[in-house]
Amino acid sequence: FDLIPDMAAKRAELTPDALAFEDTTTGLSWSFAKVNAAADAVAAGLAARGLVEGDRLAILCQNRAEFFVALFACQKTGLILCPLNWRLPAPELTEVVADVGISLFLADAAFMDVAQAVASATETPLLSIEQDLNGWITAGGPALSAAIPAERPWYLLFTSGTTGLPKAVIQTARMAWANAVNIGQAIDIASTDRAACFLPLFHTAGINLYTLPIFLTGGLSTILAKFEPDEVQALLASGRINQFFGVPAIYQALSLMETVDDIDWHLIKCGCGGAPLPEPLIHFFAEKGAYVLNGMGMTESGPTVFLMDPGHAADKIGSVGKPQSLAEVRLAGVADGVEGAGELQLRGPGITPGYFQNPVATNKTFTGDGWLATGDVARRDADGYYYIVDRIKDMFISGGENVYPAEVERVLNSHPAILETAVIGVPDAKWGEVGAAFVLLRPGATLEAETLRPWSRERLAGYKVPAHVRIVTDFPRTAAGKVCKPDLRQEFEDA
Ligand code: ATP
Ligand code: MG
Repeated sequence: FDLIPDMAAKRAELTPDALAFEDTTTGLSWSFAKVNAAADAVAAGLAARGLVEGDRLAILCQNRAEFFVALFACQKTGLILCPLNWRLPAPELTEVVADVGISLFLADAAFMDVAQAVASATETPLLSIEQDLNGWITAGGPALSAAIPAERPWYLLFTSGTTGLPKAVIQTARMAWANAVNIGQAIDIASTDRAACFLPLFHTAGINLYTLPIFLTGGLSTILAKFEPDEVQALLASGRINQFFGVPAIYQALSLMETVDDIDWHLIKCGCGGAPLPEPLIHFFAEKGAYVLNGMGMTESGPTVFLMDPGHAADKIGSVGKPQSLAEVRLAGVADGVEGAGELQLRGPGITPGYFQNPVATNKTFTGDGWLATGDVARRDADGYYYIVDRIKDMFISGGENVYPAEVERVLNSHPAILETAVIGVPDAKWGEVGAAFVLLRPGATLEAETLRPWSRERLAGYKVPAHVRIVTDFPRTAAGKVCKPDLRQEFEDA
């Protein structure tokens, strides 16, 4: 399909009075009609400021309903929304804003100081969400209801920055629809569904799991400013939510809460992805009645290329499931050391047209015949289920043998005293490279680092056993909650 309807206008036409958002920060509820009218009003406000199609609008705030109003206003006007990572300090944000080229900057009160510093360093006009944006909403604007080109850049999202500097990825309305179909079919999203939205909206999971798909289906999202364990626990325990998506670190945090059993886990559909899901966590929640469904996607591909199906969650532990309806998948080349594995490559309507203003990076990431090269090694089993082996960049070679750290981590994570591990390859005079394991212990558990090598040797080939073991109290993490391995390599070097 080449044209996509104005999503907010369409939803307002279909179910005007149903609730789209509950915002726990402002306490306000937003019907679909109200969201659409607000987006029309903001579109008018932005046009009055002289912004035209293709201009970039930056937004700096934690999760709040007005974020989506700005997003839909951009769909209506052809502006490109650029959500900024609120964890970044002013100098880093300044670089991002200068790189992308921003015509107008929106920020809420909590980030006004940082926003002012960035705006003045980049000479970008700055407006407030509370005063200016809400002023426009109160003033209103003419109803818009356009069909827009499916491939037009709608918003930009930065990759998680797990392997290096985050890259700005073009997001289109077609990608959003493809993801909505993929996730909607996989977990049966319905207009009666109620999802929690607490992952940051400057990453794909926050917007697309499950907030936009739920919106397109006419369901309700409860928006929390961010992941605050007690608040999320209370919302889940209230029975008002029947689905949420979290990265493994979120499930880890919930599993450690004393109040974890106040939640009726039978009632909640749980999705997970973004990083390997430790198997003990799957068992932990399965015993409470919830299968945490592992899935896989990327900022570049939309977040739901693969998703595990509930019927096989128990017998395909470790799998990310099968490719979903609007995703085409192939394994390219051979990956030494893992039978039947190759680089995962993707194609389909959910894939980005490219990195923003960066044809060099785009050309490097797409193959000559048009597939997105993920940089991930994957394998497929005889039943068609896929397993993410690891990132190619994280693989290291020890004594001529390929080692995939994720496999070593999986084994170490099964140790009763261990909560989570991160393994990296480090230089070694004899073997070229060897593994170094950073180990987080379960609360109250003890472990002598020296005992982990012999324990591992019983479960892993010798060349995979980490030569170095360090017990740590935390990992450096990205805003998406992923372990930042370049930082660990630096830490190892510095020590
Ligand atoms: P950057 O590209 O900036 O280094 P990133 O790749 O982590 O960061 P995202 O687009 O958020 O940025 O993440 C996509 C990547 O996350 C995938 O390429 C894959 O390596 C990893 N991933 C996603 N889901 C899973 C999963 N279920 N299991 C293992 N890895 C996963
Ligand atoms: Mg990536």
